[in-house]
Amino acid sequence: MIDKDALKLKYAEERAKRLRPDGPLQYRKWTGDETDPFTPRVERAPRRDHVTVAFIGGGLGGLVTGARLKEAGVDDVRLIEQGGDFGGAWYWNRYPGAQCDTASFVYLPLLEETGYMPTEKYAHGPEILEHCQRIGKHYGLYDNALFHTKVTDLEWDQARSRWIVRTDRGDEFTAQFVCLGTGPLHVPKLPGIPGIETFGGHSFHTSRWDYAYTGGDPLGAPMDKLADKRVAIVGTGATAVQCVPRLAEAARELFVFQRTPSSVDVRNNQPTDPEWFASIATPGWQQRWLENFTANQSGSAREDLVMDAWSDLARRARDHIRKLSRAQLTREGISEAYENADFEKMEEIRARVDAVVEDPETARRLKAWYKQLCKRPCFSDEYLQSFNRPNTHLVDTDGRGVTRITERGLVVGEVEYPVDCVIYASGFEVSTPFTDRSGFDLTGRTTTLARYWEEGMRTLHGIHVHGFPNVFVVQPSHGARLIANIPHNLLESGTTIAQIVKHALDHGYAEVEVTKQAEDAWMDLLLGSTSNVGAPDCTPGSYNNEGQDTGPRRSFFVGHPQGAQVFFRYIKEWRSSGAFEGLEFRAGAQP
Ligand code: NDP
Repeated sequence: MIDKDALKLKYAEERAKRLRPDGPLQYRKWTGDETDPFTPRVERAPRRDHVTVAFIGGGLGGLVTGARLKEAGVDDVRLIEQGGDFGGAWYWNRYPGAQCDTASFVYLPLLEETGYMPTEKYAHGPEILEHCQRIGKHYGLYDNALFHTKVTDLEWDQARSRWIVRTDRGDEFTAQFVCLGTGPLHVPKLPGIPGIETFGGHSFHTSRWDYAYTGGDPLGAPMDKLADKRVAIVGTGATAVQCVPRLAEAARELFVFQRTPSSVDVRNNQPTDPEWFASIATPGWQQRWLENFTANQSGSAREDLVMDAWSDLARRARDHIRKLSRAQLTREGISEAYENADFEKMEEIRARVDAVVEDPETARRLKAWYKQLCKRPCFSDEYLQSFNRPNTHLVDTDGRGVTRITERGLVVGEVEYPVDCVIYASGFEVSTPFTDRSGFDLTGRTTTLARYWEEGMRTLHGIHVHGFPNVFVVQPSHGARLIANIPHNLLESGTTIAQIVKHALDHGYAEVEVTKQAEDAWMDLLLGSTSNVGAPDCTPGSYNNEGQDTGPRRSFFVGHPQGAQVFFRYIKEWRSSGAFEGLEFRAGAQP
C-alpha cells in the first residue's frame, strides 16, 4: 500500500532543497572551441542568388520539411547549416552511448519513404546521423545546401516580397519563403559552479566530445586513453545516463556528480528481426505507428504497437480511470487517478534501483523523488549497473550541486575530489530568448522577432508569426508539444508548410501571413487553458524553468490544451481543407 501523504511530503522536501533564487540564471554560457572536429571547412564563393525556400537548420526539422517540399514539387529549396553535414543535434552529440530514447520506428522520420529498416528498437547515434544523411540524399537536399554557414540576419524586403538572407560566409541571397528550424536544444550550457574557470585539467561538454583526449570514437571504439585517468562527470540527465556506462568501462576512476537523480526505467533494446519488420512494414505503416504512439501517450489507444516505457504511465492512468465509477468520473477523480498511477510508477522505478544497485547507500541516493514527467524520463539497462563497478563512484550533492571547482578538481561540502578531466553533462539553453539560441534576428514588416517575442512567443500553430510574412517556424511549442517524439511534431509542421507553400506558388501569391486576429485567438486558446500552467509543484529543472515563474514568457512552453493527438488531428484537417483559415495570401510585389 502506497503512503501517498508521506510521498507528497518527501517530494515537497526534495523540491525545496533544490529551489534557488537565480533559477535559470544559475547557468553559464558555453564558450568552448567552435571548430567542427568532424568535417573540414571548405572555402566557397558567397551566394548572391535567389531561392524559393531557404530553411535555416539542417537537423531533422529541415530534413523533413525539405522532403515534404520536394514531394510537393517545390524543388528550389536551400538548407543552411552551421555544422559540416545534416543531422543537427545528432551531428554534434557524438558522445559515447548516444542513442534515441524513443523507438526508432517512430523516432526516425521517413523510414517508409526511404525504405530503411532501423537495426535496433532504439537506434544509436551513428545510425541516426546516417539516416539524416540518407534523407538528405534521397530528396536531393545536398544539391543546394550551405554547410558551415551561420545566418547572421534576415530582413524582409517589402518592395520585392522576399527575405534577404545574410550569413557569416558573406552570402547575401534572397528567398521567397524562409523556415526556421534552429532546434530547441543545441546551445550547450555550463553549470554555474564557482571556480569553474580555474580548473587546471582537461574539460569539455558532452555535445563536443573530445575523442582526441579520451581515445575511442563515436562508433564505439574503447576510450583507451582514459585507462589511467580520474574522470568526473557533472550532471545525471538523459545524456549522462547514456554515457556513464561507457565512461565506467574506460576510466581508471569515474566520479559521477549528482544534484538530482533521474528516473531510470527499463530500456529493453533489441535488434530488429527483418522478418518481423517485413510483416509490419506494409503501405502506410509508419504513419499508423506514429498515430498509435501518440494515442498511447494520450492514454486512448486500444493496442500499443511500440510497447515501451514512454507510454507506461499513460497506460496505467487509463487503467486507473477505467476503474472509476460513474460518480467518480469528475475532474478531481481523473486527476487523482493520474496521481495514483504516477506514485505507482515511481515506486516501481525506485524499487528497481534497490534491485540493481548493490550498495544500499548508493541505491538510496540514486532514487528520484518527484512525479515521472517533472523531469525528462530516462531509460537504461546499464546506467544503474555502472555503480556496481569498483571504479565508479556516485558523489551525491543532496540537491545542492557541486560546491566549487578548484585547479585540482571538484569540491562537494568540504571534500575535494582531484581529477584529470571534467565532463559537463549539463544540458542546453532552454529558456533563453529565441534569438540568443538562433544566433540571429529577423526584421519583419514593422519590427524584429526579438522585440515581437520580448513578452513571450506568439504564433498560430507554432508556425506563423504576424508581421513576418513568408516565415514558418518549425518546432513543437504552440502545437502538439509531444516531447516523447519530437520528430513527429516536425513532420506535421513540414507537411503543413509544404502544402501552404505549394498553394501560394500554384495560385501566384507572393506573400502569406497570419492575421493578427487568428494569432490572438490561437494564443488565447493556449494561454487560457489551465492544462498549460505547468507543474509548479515539480522539482526544479529545464521542464519548469528551474521552478521559477516565467511570467509572460510562459508562452514559449505551451502546447495545445487538449494534447498532441487532438492537435495532430486538428492540423491535418486545417491543412487538408485547403482554406488555411487565419492565413492571408496576397499578390504582393511581383518577382
Ligand atoms: P539536462 O539539462 O537534462 O541535465 C543537466 C544535468 O546537469 C542535470 O542532472 C542537472 O541537475 C545537472 N547540473 C546542473 N547544474 C549542476 C551543478 N551545479 N552541480 C551538479 N549538477 C548540476 O541535460 P542533458 O544533456 O542530460 O539532456 C538535455 C536534453 O537532451 C534532454 O532533456 C533530452 O530532451 C535531450 N536528450 C535526448 C536524448 C534522446 O534520446 N533523444 C538523449 C539525451 C538527451 P538537476 O537535475 O538538479 O538540474
